[in-house]
Amino acid sequence: MKRTNTFAVRPLSETGEQLLRDLLDASAALWNEVNYQRLMRYNDEDGFEGDVWDADTGRLEGKYKGVLGASTAQQVIRKNNEAWRGFFENKKACHDASNASVTEHPEPPGFRGNEDDGRQLKTVIRNTSYTVEWGDRSRLEILVGSELKDRYDHTGRLRLEIAGNPNWPDYEKQGRLDLWYDETDSTFRASQPVTVSDETRATPLASEKAALDIGANNLVACTTTTGEQYLYEGRELFHRFRETTREIARLQSKLPDGRYSSEHIRRLYHKRTRRRDHAQEALCRDLLERLYEEGVDTVYIGGLTDVLETHWLVETNAKTHNFWSFKKFTERLACTAEEYGISVEVRSEAWTSQECPQCGSTDRTTRHQDTLTCPCGFKGHADLTASETFLERQTEQSARPMARPVRFEWDDHNWSGISHPHESPKEQRTDPSTVHRNGNIVSSES
Ligand SMILES: [Zn+2]
Repeated sequence: MKRTNTFAVRPLSETGEQLLRDLLDASAALWNEVNYQRLMRYNDEDGFEGDVWDADTGRLEGKYKGVLGASTAQQVIRKNNEAWRGFFENKKACHDASNASVTEHPEPPGFRGNEDDGRQLKTVIRNTSYTVEWGDRSRLEILVGSELKDRYDHTGRLRLEIAGNPNWPDYEKQGRLDLWYDETDSTFRASQPVTVSDETRATPLASEKAALDIGANNLVACTTTTGEQYLYEGRELFHRFRETTREIARLQSKLPDGRYSSEHIRRLYHKRTRRRDHAQEALCRDLLERLYEEGVDTVYIGGLTDVLETHWLVETNAKTHNFWSFKKFTERLACTAEEYGISVEVRSEAWTSQECPQCGSTDRTTRHQDTLTCPCGFKGHADLTASETFLERQTEQSARPMARPVRFEWDDHNWSGISHPHESPKEQRTDPSTVHRNGNIVSSES
């Protein structure tokens, strides 16, 4: 199985930090030079012969290998190749009307900042050009070019201290290391892809099932056959996503004619995506750990119910799709589930999140924000109800009595649970006097 260790690293001295910054900055400069040569050719600018693959990367490798070391210079160029190949593939998919996975118009690979405003400090290191040692004092050692060694009077590889413990300390081999400076919290970070043996995979503890309802409002509503319900709130994340999207639109409207993007816009896109990915990844792990503890061996995923509902489409347009990126999320979930030995099944057959669990009606129910109501007297949390109905349908069993739902909110680092002592979905269903309060439990936004 392929996995990734991500960790923060710290230089051991000020000189070490300066050396590292120079290395990352030179990597960004090399990236920019290669990218410039390719972009000019892509745009058919005068004086640039051939297509993007005709750029003379050998000359640039020669120029930078003194600082970076030959292997790192090659890796940076290779990574730029991959970015361009990815761009051409996306472009092809975008022009293919039958492929709905690409919704944004693809743009050529961007630059990593510029000399005046500062470059994005980032590099990539070949698997044989770094070593990681895990233990009480975990450390990373990376290869640096001879010019940098001379500049700082340094010998050997550059040693960095690793903070924290890895998810995957035991692996068969390591891949190419990404190393960058994270401006948002002034920390150097690295991600190390590793191949771990299949034996490290867990075995499910029982054969319970879980069903997920995915949305933008509530990212995931989950019901298990053991009677647990979890709700991961997306409002705050979605709100911020939308704000960034608006800011991008505003900046785009101010671009001069003939220009479609800028460094600032690219950074905003990047930030927006990174924030969502981070939350998604943490959600998958949090949820699957819980499901594993519950003895779940199969997870059913139903799709994007509230996203596809009219009010969402009107308000947010297809951008909602980009926000949650359903396909990417299911891939991520399946990948994390694999570690726990849990299988993921996507069920796309038509069913409605508007179905009343009490009388089965679909056309008489109404949904207002998070609450589903039916003239038969039913009132409950719409997404949790949907995941419960979905689970019953998949397992062909009626669900066990439900425990109090646990609600999670994203605080930029973790999904933290919020307890609601009076919460009980069964009460919601049977006792109208608790309905109003329960109807509000998960709709904290007024
Ligand atoms: Zn009903």
